[in-house]
Amino acid sequence: NSVIGIVGGGQLGRMSAMAAAKLGFRAHILTQGAQDPAAQVAHAVTLGAYDDIRALEAFACAVDVVTFEFENISANALDQLASYCPVRPSGRILRISQDRLAEKTFLTDAGVPVAPWHAVTDKVSLYAAAEKLGLPLILKTTRNGYDGKGQRRVYELGELEQAFAELAPHPLVAEAMVDFACELSVMVARGVDGTIRCFDTVQNRHWHGILDLTLAPAPIMDDIAATASALAAKVARQLGLKGIMGVEMFLGRDGQIMVNEIAPRPHNSGHWTMDACPQDQFDMHIRAVAGLPLPQATRHSDAVMKNLVGPEDMALWPQILATPGQIPHLYGKAEAREGRKMGHVNVLFPHGGLPGEHGVQAALGPLATKTAAPYVMDETAF
Ligand code: ATP
Ligand code: MG
Ligand code: MG
Repeated sequence: NSVIGIVGGGQLGRMSAMAAAKLGFRAHILTQGAQDPAAQVAHAVTLGAYDDIRALEAFACAVDVVTFEFENISANALDQLASYCPVRPSGRILRISQDRLAEKTFLTDAGVPVAPWHAVTDKVSLYAAAEKLGLPLILKTTRNGYDGKGQRRVYELGELEQAFAELAPHPLVAEAMVDFACELSVMVARGVDGTIRCFDTVQNRHWHGILDLTLAPAPIMDDIAATASALAAKVARQLGLKGIMGVEMFLGRDGQIMVNEIAPRPHNSGHWTMDACPQDQFDMHIRAVAGLPLPQATRHSDAVMKNLVGPEDMALWPQILATPGQIPHLYGKAEAREGRKMGHVNVLFPHGGLPGEHGVQAALGPLATKTAAPYVMDETAF
C-alpha cells in the first residue's frame, strides 16, 4: 500500500493521517516533536528544522507523494522534493499562500476581489497606504501570521507609526478595514484530473483572532453562497491546485464578497465536514493528493463546529462528554496553553435545520457562554 508523506505534525496532519488510514494508505509524518498530534497516530520521522533539505529528501524518498499540513516550510525545498515524488499542492502554491503580498498580487491578477491593499516597507509607503486606503486600516506582516498574530489595527493617524514600529522590521501589507456583515469560507478540493469539489459555504466567527465557531451552511442567501464557492473554484483552477484548500472571505454589507486569504491544506473551518459529510475534508484531501477520484462534497446534516481553545474550554471537557449530541475531537496535546487549539466539537442538525442564534447557543450547552454575548450579526441582512 502506498505511503502519504505529510510534512508537519499538528492536528491537521493527525486528522489527515487518520483519513489516509481509512483509505488503506500508510502515512509518514515529518515533524519536530515525536509527541506531536500527528506523530501519535502515524509513523513519525523527526527533524531539527524544516529547511533541513537532507532530511526532507530522505523523507520524500520513502513515500509515494508529499503533502503538507502547515505553511511555515520552505517552498524552495518543496520544489526540490518534486524530483523524488509528486508534491501536492505544489511548492509554487505554497510560495503564493505564505506571503500576503504574493497572495494579494495573485488574487488581484486572477480577477478575484480582495480588500484594497498597499505594500508597506518604510514610512513613506506607510503614509502612502494611509492616504490610499483611509482609516481604519490593518497592518499585517506579509509572512508567518496566524490566528491574528502579526497584525495591528490603526484607527487614527497618530497610531500609525507606533503600529509600524511594533511590526518592524518585517515587510508589511496594509489593508483597508472591511466593514463586513460576516466572514465566510469554502473548502475546495481539486483532483489530479482537474475535478473540482466545493464543500458548502460556511460562516466563521472569531474570538480574539482565533476561529471560535463555524456554522454550516452559512445562514446567507443561496446565490451568495454559490458566488462564494464559484470564487473558491476559480482560485483553485487558476492555481492548478492538487489537494484541498481553504478560502477565507468577507461578505460585505452590500453583498459583495472579498477573498481574505487562502490556505492550501485542510483548514479549521472545514472540521464540521468530519461529522456532517459522507466524505470529509481530510478524505477529500487524501484522495486529491493520491490521485483518486473525488466524490461529490455533499453534506447530510447541518452542523456547528466549536473550537476548544486553551484551558478555559478544556475545563468544560467532562461536561462536553456528558452532553448528548456533542461530537468531540481531541488532538492529543499535553498542555492546554492559553490560545492553543486543543480540539473541537461538532453538533449536528437535520439537513436544512440549522437553527437561529438562540438555538445554536442552546445546542452548544456548556460551550455557549463564552461566545454568546459578543457576536452581533444581522441574520436578516442577506
Ligand atoms: P488565520 O489563523 O486564519 O491564518 P491570520 O493571522 O492569517 O489568521 P487573517 O485571516 O488575515 O489573519 O485575519 C484574522 C482576522 O482578522 C480575520 O478573520 C478577520 O476577522 C480580521 N480581519 C483581517 N483582515 C481584515 C480586514 N481587512 N478587514 C476587517 N477584518 C479583517
Ligand atoms: Mg492566515
Ligand atoms: Mg485567516
